[in-house]
Amino acid sequence: MSRIQCERCLRPRSHCLCPSIPSLDSRTRVVLLQHPDEVRHALNTARLAALGLRNAQLRVGRCSKIWQS
Ligand SMILES: [Zn+2]
Repeated sequence: MSRIQCERCLRPRSHCLCPSIPSLDSRTRVVLLQHPDEVRHALNTARLAALGLRNAQLRVGRCSKIWQS
């Protein structure tokens, strides 16, 4: 049986961090590169960082393929 998950932060609903995630401006565009194996990691801090920075983008992939998606 799987737990119900928050669609935004991907944490279990009972541990959703969305209300605590800031919405920070940044003059610098931030691109976060995440290995596919880390997507389902319990902490998933790359996703949290991308959600907290307005000018950020999360790219998931391996090596050169990460830029082709
Ligand atoms: Zn959430």
